[in-house]
Amino acid sequence: MNRQHLANHSVEEGRLLTSRRRFLKQLACGSLLAVAGPKLATAALRGGSYGPSHKLIALENTNTGEKLKVAFFERGHYVDDALAEISYLFRDFHTGDVHPIDPFLLDQLHEIQQSLGIVKPFEVISGYRSPYTNAHLRKQSHRVAKHSLHMEGRAIDIRVAGVESRYIRDAAVAMQRGGVGYYPYANFVHLDTGDIRTW
Ligand SMILES: [Zn+2]
Repeated sequence: MNRQHLANHSVEEGRLLTSRRRFLKQLACGSLLAVAGPKLATAALRGGSYGPSHKLIALENTNTGEKLKVAFFERGHYVDDALAEISYLFRDFHTGDVHPIDPFLLDQLHEIQQSLGIVKPFEVISGYRSPYTNAHLRKQSHRVAKHSLHMEGRAIDIRVAGVESRYIRDAAVAMQRGGVGYYPYANFVHLDTGDIRTW
């Protein structure tokens, strides 16, 4: 490769870099979702090192009335104290058992919050479920899984006041990050960090 080739090459790389920066900037503003559709934007979010260095989340437990607004990710790292506070809010309210929450679940919530422009808290209907509670719920409904990811701190059932749950479902499905269940009659969405699947 001669010098001219090299020069052209780096110009080309520069262009690519600029368009990628612009792309990520649009992504951060959320405008690309409207322009290019959620699939493309999601692909960009998942590929490479892009990601906000600071992630704030607002939560409300519908069973206990507890509220929490906290930065669970700062300067590129998860914040242990915040994760502990969130895990406590997500606890099994039947038994009081607390289990560490999977931080990737919070990333999913944060991404949904950003893509839909959600400002209100996520209402947490069910977070961690102890084996005792899960067995109890299974007696009431055949739709409760025997080895539910709720028992590993890897699943959550949520809704947001003023936001139709089907939009939350659509945003979650577009992310392609894990399991997404939609329960229109009870008006909530189940998210988990297991295999990508929908129901
Ligand atoms: Zn669930």
